[in-house]
Amino acid sequence: MKISIKDAKARLSLLVIAVASISTATYYSLSQRVPEEIEILKNIINQIGQANNLGESPLAFMVSSGSQAAYLAEQQGLCKPNECDSFAYLNPFKLHSSQWDELIRQSYALGEIQGWATASGTVVIPRSTFRIYGPRHDFLACTIAHEIAHIKRNHAFNRSYQENHRYKSLAKKQMNIALMRLARQQELEADRDAAAMLSRAGFRNRVCQDELVYMHKANADGSTTQPESTHPGFDERVKAIRLYYNILDKKPLKPLESTPGRFSYKRSDNLLIFTPQSKQIKVQGSKGGRA
Ligand SMILES: [Zn+2]
Repeated sequence: MKISIKDAKARLSLLVIAVASISTATYYSLSQRVPEEIEILKNIINQIGQANNLGESPLAFMVSSGSQAAYLAEQQGLCKPNECDSFAYLNPFKLHSSQWDELIRQSYALGEIQGWATASGTVVIPRSTFRIYGPRHDFLACTIAHEIAHIKRNHAFNRSYQENHRYKSLAKKQMNIALMRLARQQELEADRDAAAMLSRAGFRNRVCQDELVYMHKANADGSTTQPESTHPGFDERVKAIRLYYNILDKKPLKPLESTPGRFSYKRSDNLLIFTPQSKQIKVQGSKGGRA
């Protein structure tokens, strides 16, 4: 059957409209779907919470673009040096401008294993971290537990308190050295807490020791401990967790009472929130439980 050019053009434009409709629909359904990373986070928090006290305050979890995006933004002159942090916290699950989307894509492909915690209870995990850990969700659980430990122990507040009290009279350089020493102690404490939490929750032995080695290799971080570094170097950190696991080997930890709670995820906020539910409400017959 012959068709005229006019017909062909008409059919082509109909086809383009149809394809556009399908891709719009596909994007819409994708954008409405809960991201895979959020489901992974839920499972990990559930697992850890089954045998640990996660406190009474809500914990929020945000998947972000990561530091690589901030680094690239600075390279491209999108922000002033040292004023690019917000590029590390971009939402990777929504479209921005094409330039920003490319930064987010590159950060996902090239970024490192990272995690942060705010004093107020938000844990930030770049999407590249999920990609690098891949199916090793137990390694990701170590990072999540480590960040929860920082929050539960009020590490940021404690540093501020020491800065304004115990170290108040120190000169600026000595103050910084004292604060960095404290920060490194807190890192080792959070490492131990993470190992303990996962051990109570039934994860395999020495998983967080293996994770530390994996993370340092993946991030090409063979650093030594420096007086002004926030984190201990590779050898010190791995040795410390190995010695802690030796203690756990001799005296295994028993599971603690679980932390019941509810999850809520709001796509527009890019936040998964875990709200612990008081035991009292549970006793009163609320369905509750971790979803
Ligand atoms: Zn830390």
